[in-house]
Amino acid sequence: MIHNTQQETNMSLDITAHPVRSKPDELVPSRYALKVGEIDVLVVSDGVLPLPTKMLGHNADPAIRAAWLNNMFLPPDAFDWALNAVVVRSGGRTILIDAGLGGDPDLHLPRAGQLVKRLDAAGIDLASVTDVVLTHMHMDHVGGLLVEGVKERLRPDLQIHVAAAEVKFWESPDFSHTAMPPGFPDALRSAAKRFVNQYHNHLRQFDEEHEVAPGVVVRRTGGHTPGHSVVRLASGGDALTFAGDAVFAVGFDQPDWHNGFEHDPEEAARVRVRLLRELAATGEMLVATHLPFPSVGRVAVDDDAFRWVPVFWDY
Ligand SMILES: [Zn+2]
Repeated sequence: MIHNTQQETNMSLDITAHPVRSKPDELVPSRYALKVGEIDVLVVSDGVLPLPTKMLGHNADPAIRAAWLNNMFLPPDAFDWALNAVVVRSGGRTILIDAGLGGDPDLHLPRAGQLVKRLDAAGIDLASVTDVVLTHMHMDHVGGLLVEGVKERLRPDLQIHVAAAEVKFWESPDFSHTAMPPGFPDALRSAAKRFVNQYHNHLRQFDEEHEVAPGVVVRRTGGHTPGHSVVRLASGGDALTFAGDAVFAVGFDQPDWHNGFEHDPEEAARVRVRLLRELAATGEMLVATHLPFPSVGRVAVDDDAFRWVPVFWDY
């Protein structure tokens, strides 16, 4: 009997399980669990990315951009963008949506790249992950898979779902419409290349839409990158969309502002407005990579202005 109990504890798949080790040095919570019907969802913070504020809207009038930052009590030159990933459990599968930054010391982003450590702290074994879904192949979404020792800990039959258009795009990526800080285009090209080199045997490419597990559907939107995709979780009348980089913090007030990382900023703005309108109409929940952690909320709309409505934390 004792043996069985011990075994059950070790093999527990309960996403809300207590951490294996306590982390007294982490005073700010880095994971938030919720349920969408029968689907378990865990938002995990990979850390933060300090980025120039100009990246928020490189087509915006600098004075209007400065006023927006001031109204948001944000510093004028640079601020910390959240970086969130999600773990989903449905139908016996454990699905990691995006993988965080990993490491790139040349870009001076030491406060991101915490995902693996935080999955460990949440009691989630990398070997239990059956699927990875990538919203796109920017380094802050695939980099965690490139950290030394991670691939060895993942299952040999791991499936990585990504839009075929995304894999194709990175064969010869176009940065002509982006406005990134120096060093970023090369780092992004290199990370995407390393990712395909290391994981090509695991790729499961889809064209427009693919059901990864019961109620877990990834859908290509394009815009941010040609293969950019969102993931909608739906079960028991509840639904939540993980929007990847379709929506940034500024995107509610200023959905037309072009983010510096968008490869087709005009299409990205159309994708953003369509998604925000849909979510405002349905009242379904939204989580996005770069909204403040845990980034679980809903969208309200007044004419052309959207409003972010965070959920009240459920303890
Ligand atoms: Zn991103």
